Amino acid sequence: MKSDMLCLECDNLVIGAGLAGMAAALRLKGKTLVASAGLGATAISGGAIALPERRDEEAERWFLKTLQDTCCPYREGQYMTDMRAVRSGLVQTTTDFMGSPVYVSPDDRPLNDGIALGLKVFAGRSCQEVAHMIEADDAWLDLIGEALSNAGADSYLLPPVLGVSRAMQARKRLENAAGAPVYEYVTAPSVLGLRLLRGLRDALDRNRDITLLETTTIESIDGGARGLMGTKRLRGVLVEASLLVLATGGPLTGFRLDGDRVCEPLTGTVVGDVEADLGRSFAADHPLMFKGIGVCLPAAGGFRDVRAAGAVAAGYGLYEALRTGYHAGDGL
Ligand SMILES: Cc1cc2nc3c(=O)[nH]c(=O)nc-3n(C[C@H](O)[C@H](O)[C@H](O)COP(=O)(O)OP(=O)(O)OC[C@H]3O[C@@H](n4cnc5c(N)ncnc54)[C@H](O)[C@@H]3O)c2cc1C
Repeated sequence: MKSDMLCLECDNLVIGAGLAGMAAALRLKGKTLVASAGLGATAISGGAIALPERRDEEAERWFLKTLQDTCCPYREGQYMTDMRAVRSGLVQTTTDFMGSPVYVSPDDRPLNDGIALGLKVFAGRSCQEVAHMIEADDAWLDLIGEALSNAGADSYLLPPVLGVSRAMQARKRLENAAGAPVYEYVTAPSVLGLRLLRGLRDALDRNRDITLLETTTIESIDGGARGLMGTKRLRGVLVEASLLVLATGGPLTGFRLDGDRVCEPLTGTVVGDVEADLGRSFAADHPLMFKGIGVCLPAAGGFRDVRAAGAVAAGYGLYEALRTGYHAGDGL
């Protein structure tokens, strides 16, 4: 072992800080470390949690309560996507809308066949860029507010641009200037996933038993989890724990393919079969959409218990990440 290796011990190690890993960490009992290599699918998702037929109301209630006092409160409601589809789900309070608001287009073009209000301030800029400008300087909000008040509509539906950490305040300021309710619609990649992560981070920061090891990539599990820390990856780290939760993610960092077998990348455990579970044509079309969901893996690498949590890329990905993260410690 290298002498400059950082050696840590805890009750639980969670690898991955997307929705699944954060939910798991927030629910587990005991000293918990969360190792995160960086942003994953949650960060670029639409941030709205569509409700499947088979719901897990316990996990949903926990989620709403956990985020209620953070910078990103959620509620059950309706949201509109940039395709103008109206869906129900768990939504960030800025995306929950009423009535028939006027769409504000990011690029002056009407969305689908409807009428949209174009705003010059958005021209040539991505949602993330505008969100960053708004987060840094209220003057941008006032510019948008002035343009909206000149348009004189009853309410407005904006691209997701209200910033990451203070969207609620930004929205109120905009509503005062516009003299009408202002909502955001759901699109991906967008800032809504980043906002969800920030809300989870707020909740995590309040829990003294949880430590987040950012920019820490776990490379192997062998007598503990071994990895490298920092943006330059100069420092080694070894973490020993009783429970290991693998929440390494959706489409960006997901499971590895070995022939027909779908393997969890760190332990090599086979969690699925391409032919039997998914079909070859699906696999060929969607190479990044695999993920073992809620699987219990055999004890490995010196950990007494190993669990996996996380979700596929499409459809109900965030719901599955929440559900499996919430239940990651069940039965311990
Ligand atoms: C563009 C896009 C839009 C989407 N929109 C929606 C949507 O609107 N609604 C919806 O329900 N779903 C959506 N999804 C799917 C959803 O985002 C994912 O299914 C869900 O976020 C997966 O969450 P997760 O916690 O399992 O993984 P992730 O959020 O991917 O988190 C995995 C984490 O693990 C870390 N990690 C991975 N390997 C290691 C390692 N070796 N060491 C340390 N850390 C590691 C990563 O850095 C990351 O932090 C979308 C996905 C994409 C890509």
